[in-house]
Amino acid sequence: PVDGQSPPWYPTPPGGTVMQWSDSYKKAAELVRKMNLLEKVNITTGTGWQMGLAVGNTAPATNVGFPGLALQDGPLGLRFADNATAFPAGITVGATWNKELMYLRGKAHGKEARLKGVNVLLGPCVGPLGRMPAGGRNWEGFGTDPVLQGIAAAQTIKGIQEEGVIATIKHFVGNEQEHFRQSWEWGLPNAMSSNIDDRTLHEMYGWPFADSVKAGVASVMCSYQMTNNSYSCGNSKLLNGYLKDELGFQGFVQSDWLAQRSGVGSALAGLDMSMPGDGLIWANGKSLWGPELTKSVLNGSLPIDRLNDMVTRVVASWYQLGQDDTSRFDGKGPNFSSWTNDKLGRINHGSPDDKDEKVVNQFINVQGDGEDSHRIIAREVATEGTVLVKNDDNVLPLLRDGWLSEDKHEIKMRIGIFGEDSGAGDGPNACADRGCNQGTLGSGWGSGAVEFPWLITPVEALKEAFNKDRVYVTDFPTNAPPLKKAPAILKDQDFCIVFVNADAGEGFISSGGIKGDRNDLNIQKGGDELIKKVSEGCGEGNGKTIVVVHSVGPVVVEKWVNLPGVKAVIMANLPGQESGYAIADILIGNVNPSGKLPYTIGAKILYYANGVIPQQTFSEGLYIDYRHFDKFGVDPTYEFGFGLSYTTFEYSNLVVNKLREKTPLPSPRPTGVQAPKFDTNIPSPTEALFPEGFKKLKKFIYPYIEKVSDIKPAGGDEGGNPDLWNVYAEVSVDIQNTGTRAGKEVAQLYVSYSDVTGEAKKVDFPIKVLRGFEKVFLKLLGRGEAELGYA
Ligand code: BGC
Ligand code: BGC
Repeated sequence: PVDGQSPPWYPTPPGGTVMQWSDSYKKAAELVRKMNLLEKVNITTGTGWQMGLAVGNTAPATNVGFPGLALQDGPLGLRFADNATAFPAGITVGATWNKELMYLRGKAHGKEARLKGVNVLLGPCVGPLGRMPAGGRNWEGFGTDPVLQGIAAAQTIKGIQEEGVIATIKHFVGNEQEHFRQSWEWGLPNAMSSNIDDRTLHEMYGWPFADSVKAGVASVMCSYQMTNNSYSCGNSKLLNGYLKDELGFQGFVQSDWLAQRSGVGSALAGLDMSMPGDGLIWANGKSLWGPELTKSVLNGSLPIDRLNDMVTRVVASWYQLGQDDTSRFDGKGPNFSSWTNDKLGRINHGSPDDKDEKVVNQFINVQGDGEDSHRIIAREVATEGTVLVKNDDNVLPLLRDGWLSEDKHEIKMRIGIFGEDSGAGDGPNACADRGCNQGTLGSGWGSGAVEFPWLITPVEALKEAFNKDRVYVTDFPTNAPPLKKAPAILKDQDFCIVFVNADAGEGFISSGGIKGDRNDLNIQKGGDELIKKVSEGCGEGNGKTIVVVHSVGPVVVEKWVNLPGVKAVIMANLPGQESGYAIADILIGNVNPSGKLPYTIGAKILYYANGVIPQQTFSEGLYIDYRHFDKFGVDPTYEFGFGLSYTTFEYSNLVVNKLREKTPLPSPRPTGVQAPKFDTNIPSPTEALFPEGFKKLKKFIYPYIEKVSDIKPAGGDEGGNPDLWNVYAEVSVDIQNTGTRAGKEVAQLYVSYSDVTGEAKKVDFPIKVLRGFEKVFLKLLGRGEAELGYA
């Protein structure tokens, strides 16, 4: 693509063309051949927002025994679920640079999803990649580099899918910012367009998706915004051309929630599943697919082969992940509700007609126990994802037992903990979808956030971590100008640990003046000031200050990083539920820090590639984050991949072993496997009618059509509805030339609604509109000889 344009790419390559999926496609095709049109439509279209217990639900194909599917967020845990693990966020996982942990976290996450009855997990997330350092959702992904993202995603997918759960790689593609990601949140006629040239697509934003496809990911979620001025969920070049042809993607493409912007168009462009089913407007029960898709097949505007492929892709994914195995998947759907915390609730929560209370929350604990407890992995990731970027005079690690006095009893070491980010605040779940910054920061906000089962705070873990007989720990978990009330606390310390943070999230929530994307890269809530004050006053200037930053991404540290009192700085990212333990392990050296930055920390936001308007041309190409700093010779404060250890390492003896010859030719396409063939007869419209006596719920999206007459042959009379051409009245008027010369006159007929009928006034209509005219030539003749004109 050039200049932000999207070339056409048709038709959609059918799934079922690679060896690794061929068994699943065989089974799927057999099942799909038995499905009627309505069952097929059910599989492609969500039932509507809050119609079902998960954030996305499809209806079953009852006659052939294919279940409805439950789709649930998100990339760092099970959203809206009880008794589940709040894992560290993607950015923390990326900072571990530990493939095994990436995989294990995915596996634990997948297991929790399976045990809660979820078929499709809406993660991992690799888009945003991190082009905008302040991007609101960067923390859901693994860091600002396609290779890091790609490997972390592949490992996560491997873990999730080994548990039999379909992973979703999202958001495809170019969803680099929250501002203007969709039109309705911003009062714009259209969402922004990410204008990405072919090379940048391949080498940057598409790269981690390619890794994910290679890892066998069974679902891809297309993004809200436009890519090259065509909505991503209807962009044939992206979905048909790049994803399904070039990358050979065999699973199904689902829309982000309301990211589908057209019906037949998006089907032809390669979309396979509409989520959550509602189309142009949130939760109004009107779909771009559902009954519309039924009609479009019956009236011939969507080739039935495309529908068959859409359905087969979904069903094949289900087989591919072994979800037909009832010993692993009972097929009964979620055992928790996204819409209530009570035991009883309505399954179709979104419909005013559903009055039927059922047990919707079974409160099943899926966190694992003993050696299999997922908190072990959560803690390991949080610890390894903690990055030490400064450690002057080896101030860290702190001694657990403090210093020994001569009599070995006296409390000799005094530690003060400062900052709201060290404590509990109002609890981790104080705001819906974690949409506010208070207490210690464990995750960003939005659909990627989860309910914390608990959140171990730094204060609580640090108080436990030190030998209480020898180390005295005081906490002051607020950002209030330090210690007006108790200045002694600051004065008395040997070490001061300051916790600060920076938060952001998904665009549908706005908090503290941040509408998704951060407005700057600064520490928030007065943290810069707090660090300054603490480091100046700590131990009356002799104390050593250690700064811990919990953040959704890079922050500017220039204001304080070189203050004489600031000896150590730790980027602790977003650690999830085990936060406190992780930071305590690092601070006292139970664990030697090994995290590396998954992004570059620069002194100014201007040093990054950037932009703020609805047309985003990615003209910097390959040069974001460290590549940008390198290219322009800007010294980063701390570079991508940087992180200190308490020990030192030496590298030597680098060996490069050539494994195969390079060839100038690309590999040939795999041959031998054929996509399944289907009967292409269009069924009779009568088969698509609502069954007799069917009880319809308001707003629920069904596949049925209302009447056979909805399916008409295309095309009307010449000039449109014949009624428009019927003559209902004749108007005539006499015109007389009463002057002194011949002349032409135009008689113009205007119509307007009369004021008399109140009903008509409800129609918005101009005061008058022209409906006809006639030009007549009137000679100067005697009276009575004037020619008549009429209009
Ligand atoms: C988000 C997706 C999420 C979906 C369902 C959307 O707003 O962009 O990431 O999976 O909602 O909650
Ligand atoms: C939902 C999210 C969704 C968002 C989209 C919210 O109301 O909870 O799941 O991602 O709307 O704008």
